[in-house]
Amino acid sequence: MSAAAETTLTLDNRFARELPELAVPWQAEEAPDPALLVLNDGLARRLGLDPEFLSSNDGIRLLTGNHVPAGATPVAQAYAGHQFGGYSPRLGDGRALLLGEVTGPDGHQLDLHLKGSGRTPFARAGDGLAVVGPMLREYLVSESMHALGIPSTRALAVVATGRQVRREGLLPGALLARVAASHLRVGSFQYARAADDVDLLRRLADHAIARHYPAAAAAEQPYLELFRNVLAAQADLVARWMLVGFVHGVMNTDNMTISGETIDYGPCAFMDAFDPGALYSSIDTGGRYAYSNQPIVAEWNLARLAEALLPLLHEDQEKAVELAVEALGLFRPAYGAAWQAGMLAKLGLPAPADGSPADPESAGLVDGALALLKDGPVDHTQFFRNLVKAARGDAGPVRGMIMDLAAYDAWAARWLARQPDPALMDRTNPIYIPRNHLVEEALAAATAGDLAPFHLLLDAVGSPFTERPGLERFAEGPPADFGAYRSYCGT
Ligand code: AMP
Ligand code: MG
Repeated sequence: MSAAAETTLTLDNRFARELPELAVPWQAEEAPDPALLVLNDGLARRLGLDPEFLSSNDGIRLLTGNHVPAGATPVAQAYAGHQFGGYSPRLGDGRALLLGEVTGPDGHQLDLHLKGSGRTPFARAGDGLAVVGPMLREYLVSESMHALGIPSTRALAVVATGRQVRREGLLPGALLARVAASHLRVGSFQYARAADDVDLLRRLADHAIARHYPAAAAAEQPYLELFRNVLAAQADLVARWMLVGFVHGVMNTDNMTISGETIDYGPCAFMDAFDPGALYSSIDTGGRYAYSNQPIVAEWNLARLAEALLPLLHEDQEKAVELAVEALGLFRPAYGAAWQAGMLAKLGLPAPADGSPADPESAGLVDGALALLKDGPVDHTQFFRNLVKAARGDAGPVRGMIMDLAAYDAWAARWLARQPDPALMDRTNPIYIPRNHLVEEALAAATAGDLAPFHLLLDAVGSPFTERPGLERFAEGPPADFGAYRSYCGT
């Protein structure tokens, strides 16, 4: 890449231009002593950015928002949201900024966004800051999700700011630069709807269609088609979470994207032992966002999106409600089909190519596998990895982890009769996930200044399906004394 191209990051200000009512132009706080902690070279190159430049002083100033390229308009985005079921009319980016849109290699625009860049007019009582541990955590988990083939925002870099931040004591401050298809959320539509400005709502919907679902523009009812597309994307996304044992932890409507990417890695975690009630967030005392509630919550959030879209769906609001309810009815079958197809793949069984429901025997095997998991406790990830061994003729490891062996043997006889494909299972069942005990260990070391464990773990979860000698520790469950895991919001 030429020297000129290295230093001219071209950022559009499309969101700020098209939706000024949702964009407050703002500047990042000056980082007193910035130091690059981790840079995603591969992602940088995909965006046409030179990693060497990004590692330079000028590059780091760009990554902290302290140098704004010509033509860019960094903004704090306004949005509303239901948090734990209660509506907040004004949330918005309290500690984040949209720097602008960068055009990716496929010609699509992607958001370049900062988290931890200082207080904005939406900061309320917050300090606008973020600290090293949680920003590295988002880096690790979002890159793991991407490597697992699960739509997610991506992490471009974490920069230590050199500022001390008050949390439980003083902690080193940091900022995450992330890349997303967009930062439009269900809460963005709730905000526009509450503004009682149909023109704004229409411009927001048009912006979302143009960026994420361009084919909807040609549909007979483009806004209903937008809703159907978001619903399909979210049904598929949440099914993928469930298939790897991911608990998002804070599925508020402001944390649910229109693009269908996973966003906002706060109190999220991957489960070790399978547990339908798995929940890690210290503030979710009611268990609203527990593992098995996630599909229901996604549907509830989509109902809030439908409500926000009502003025665009039909001029007669009763008709609009009818259309919305009918479309919402698509969620359960879409989710069920995505989950079942994913489970079949995890079991090495072919799914019907046309998306139709599985035959009764295959569906029964899926239900049987779930029953074995529920009978546990069994490590979710290792259960499926050991099933791959069983498909290759070695039933010992999986039998070694099951309580009800008679139930397993009866199920396995039927399963093996279907000749499961171990190569498909290898591609579908991860070996390395960011297990809580490993993440905590890596982040504690990083906060104390040693990034080596972080990079080792990042390397493992970056190729989750490829078994590598020397990484055995990363495939194992937590030590017996690890105990119940708690993660914290407001990080
Ligand atoms: P979250 O639960 O991380 O999605 O955040 C919910 C809301 O709180 C958003 O409006 C955030 O911008 C805001 N917020 C979270 N942490 C902070 C902070 N330290 N300073 C200012 N605003 C914050
Ligand atoms: Mg959020």
